[in-house]
Amino acid sequence: MKIIVIGNGGREHALAWKLLQSNEVKHVYCIPGNGGTALLANCENISLSIEDFEGIARFALENQVDLVVVGPEYPLSLGITDALICQGISVFGPTKEGASIESSKSWAKELMIEAGVPTAASGTFTDADSARAYVLEKGAPIVVKADGLAAGKGVIVAETVEIALEGIDDLFNSGYTKVVVEEFLAGEEVSILALTDGVTCRALVPAQDHKRIGEGDTGKNTGGMGVYAPAPIATADILRKVDAEILAPVVATLRKRGIDYRGVLYAGLMISPSGEPKVLEFNCRFGDPETQAVLPLLETPLAPLLLACARGELRAFPPLQWRSGSAVCVVAASAGYPDAYEKGKVITGIEECEAEGAIVFHAGTTLKHGDLLTDGGRVLGITALGETFSEAIDRVYRAVARVHFDGIYYRRDIGHRARER
Ligand code: ATP
Repeated sequence: MKIIVIGNGGREHALAWKLLQSNEVKHVYCIPGNGGTALLANCENISLSIEDFEGIARFALENQVDLVVVGPEYPLSLGITDALICQGISVFGPTKEGASIESSKSWAKELMIEAGVPTAASGTFTDADSARAYVLEKGAPIVVKADGLAAGKGVIVAETVEIALEGIDDLFNSGYTKVVVEEFLAGEEVSILALTDGVTCRALVPAQDHKRIGEGDTGKNTGGMGVYAPAPIATADILRKVDAEILAPVVATLRKRGIDYRGVLYAGLMISPSGEPKVLEFNCRFGDPETQAVLPLLETPLAPLLLACARGELRAFPPLQWRSGSAVCVVAASAGYPDAYEKGKVITGIEECEAEGAIVFHAGTTLKHGDLLTDGGRVLGITALGETFSEAIDRVYRAVARVHFDGIYYRRDIGHRARER
């Protein structure tokens, strides 16, 4: 089997790494890939733009590719799946309409209401005055969200009415034409990624991300600074509720709307202090860094599983098998991230890090004249497994300490919530 992975982050490195462990997979092409995928055996980086759907289709057909796995939301929101499936290519990733579940918060809210899914009460507004009036009526804390892909920067969790009003003005002034204002939900967050073929849905182990740059969950939002799985906050009882009250109704409602959704349905959830899950957001793709902790725990070969989703054959697929124990992934970032940072710093110590038993996923790296250089804000995702959560934590931090590049930054408190439990 030959597979294309679209994207160039840690998520795509983890996908390519896991796909290559399936016996059926002979070759993986990453479009465009990164320094880590370039180093994988039987994996090749292809220099094509992720927006060049014609070029990608041509490449897939010429190389008799069996499956295209799309990593990031951006090409999905532009319709990469629609462009490839009409040429007879199997794709893991929803169509443009299905990807609206992530690319439009108001679309997702409507879908959730139609599906009867528990989520924060909200209003959608196309002008600042009505949004402001809603905030004044509801009071604070309250949450203001841009209706569009904003790479995590379009959400204002406002502690005061003034901050919410300012947020509304900022979003409309910066070009957004729609905002969602929603009730503030208290609790603990967890990510549940489910795989679906549009009919059947299989949840992966729950993961907990750490979005803020600073320890103790302080400072700016980032793409994610670390993650662990399984997240103990998601008890068996909560997982049953998520399946029955969230995932299954959403898949059924998508189908009812005529949307053939084949890919990841990622539910970002807030678990209330009394154990009730409510949806904060849906994403239409694998989480990054969640994938870097979840996939190393998966024992089931990934390639046939994703192919079964793409072909609408998930129902007949055997139950997923998981390793016992925990996985923890710590992200090593460039100094300055998530603001401006420098690139091109030499990375050393990867082999020593691997010798500690860790898996090193590359997020923002590039290979130049034999040197591995930093090439992004999030540079590496370092994952370790352990029979217990503490074993995984100890191992991952021993491994991270072996890696060096000028200005390396990582949070030293990944997993603090699980540790406190
Ligand atoms: P990303 O895709 O990076 O997760 P996003 O821009 O799509 O982010 P959301 O996930 O909807 O946005 O919100 C970002 C963060 O804001 C959440 O992870 C959560 O911490 C906080 N948040 C969002 N909605 C609420 C809410 N209703 N109550 C409390 N906190 C919220």
